[in-house]
Amino acid sequence: MITPWDVSDDLDYKKTMEQFGVNPISEIVKTLKEPHNFMKRGIVFGHRDFQKIADAMNNGKDFTVVSGMMPSGKMHFGHKMVVDQLLYYQKYGADIYIPIADLEAYWARGMDFETTKKLAIEEYITNYIALGLDPEKIHVYLQSKNETVKDLAMRLSKRVNFTEMKGIYGFSGETNIGHVFAPVVQVADILHPQLEKKVPVVVPVGIDQDPHIRLTRDIAGRYKDFKFIAPSSTYHRFITGLLGGKMSSSKPETAIYLSDEPTKSFKKKVMSCKTGGRETLEEQKKLGGVPEECVVYELYTYHLIEDDKELKKLYDQCKSGELTCGTCKKECYQKLVEFMTDLQEKREQAKEVAAKLL
Ligand code: SF4
Repeated sequence: MITPWDVSDDLDYKKTMEQFGVNPISEIVKTLKEPHNFMKRGIVFGHRDFQKIADAMNNGKDFTVVSGMMPSGKMHFGHKMVVDQLLYYQKYGADIYIPIADLEAYWARGMDFETTKKLAIEEYITNYIALGLDPEKIHVYLQSKNETVKDLAMRLSKRVNFTEMKGIYGFSGETNIGHVFAPVVQVADILHPQLEKKVPVVVPVGIDQDPHIRLTRDIAGRYKDFKFIAPSSTYHRFITGLLGGKMSSSKPETAIYLSDEPTKSFKKKVMSCKTGGRETLEEQKKLGGVPEECVVYELYTYHLIEDDKELKKLYDQCKSGELTCGTCKKECYQKLVEFMTDLQEKREQAKEVAAKLL
């Protein structure tokens, strides 16, 4: 069972899509005037009902984006992927809602409200703004302070029962009631923008969050009087950690944090990450590398090379054996340092603005 709180390292995306009934997004991507690189590169691979959003984007119509977060540790390049997608939708003028799941953090992880708020402001919102989100155009809120969301969650919970929640999330008799209720608050997070403006909404998530999307779409259909439009969703791949497996906030050796500094240890971390290189230099020159199994190539694809031609050139050079992993990793490190240095400056400017948003 895959739930928002438990997803394995070796996720089979194809099987999960079939199991959950998620559709491939590639055909709709072809109809978009300017698809995001993640979409063109297969990083965003699946969707529910995205056609509504594609139509809105192609025809200059209004739509909303909801992207919740539960702050846990430092922001890394996996978290950045969500912001990259928000920036894309921001260009289309979408209204962006960013709920901070402090209630869920309390119920599911035992985090106190003050700690969650501090982490949300200093680490997440500050980085979100530094990365380019316009603070004037986003709606950031703490679940615990949003009366509209809480009221809606209470109303919606009338038509959800424990058997259903257990079936979707695997809750046991030991699970605290707050934790069982937390997904209904998320449903309210996703649906409440429609109380103000009835336009389609998209939720860009990792596939582990699909249980929330399924629940939201089901509940939306149970309340005819609200006339909710069932939310759309897109699903992106998880970025691989530096050693293979998952990138995790709590495992520094696997993660590139947005606040990493160009220290010796950071360089060592990048230079010793898992590549698709061969055992020896001789073999590499003869057989070429395997970019499909390379964390460095993934970093280039997800975050460091915007231009498709430049990426293709690197791929070809790797495959032909022209490029060696040592050189390739050094260039990756340089790009990371440039990115971090620039972001660090922007973060300094964003701090104050972020603190005022909550
Ligand atoms: Fe990866 Fe670069 Fe080595 Fe190719 S040359 S396997 S892309 S590190």
